[in-house]
Amino acid sequence: MTAKILVSACLMGHAVRYDGQAKPLVHPALDRWCAEGRLVTICPEMSAGMPVPRLPAEIEPGKTADEVLSSGARVLESNGGDVTAAFRQAAENALALALETGCAYALLIDGSPSCGSSFVYDGSFSGDRQPGEGVTAALLRKNGIQVFSGRDIDALVEVAGLAA
Ligand code: SF4
Repeated sequence: MTAKILVSACLMGHAVRYDGQAKPLVHPALDRWCAEGRLVTICPEMSAGMPVPRLPAEIEPGKTADEVLSSGARVLESNGGDVTAAFRQAAENALALALETGCAYALLIDGSPSCGSSFVYDGSFSGDRQPGEGVTAALLRKNGIQVFSGRDIDALVEVAGLAA
């Protein structure tokens, strides 16, 4: 079966981000994969019932996505609201869809507390970044799905052998 790729909905131009915006990625490989039916699009947070727009959320300071998944950390909104359960559900929804549809890869927007794959914000809501991953990206990786940020789409082309 042709390898499929799970893709962040906001990267595909859907206005689903917390601020009601999209963050579209323009790349010829993306157009080709779309035409070939290789893309499986999801906004994990919306799949868990979160609204658009919504408050920004970050993993609490000093904690990781793995700790969120193992119930050792929370995801908090900018007003202090606890949205941990929704973020865990979002990750589980994304994993279930990836497994159902045969996705071996995921191409996700970096920096998000769900989709981030190399950095996230530090939990202070000050705009400061730190190395890390979002809750969905962490769960996908735990289950053998290779996760790339939109910035690394050329690496995905290489690794996945999807250039032809
Ligand atoms: Fe985009 Fe992922 Fe955030 Fe949804 S959860 S808005 S797909 S970065």
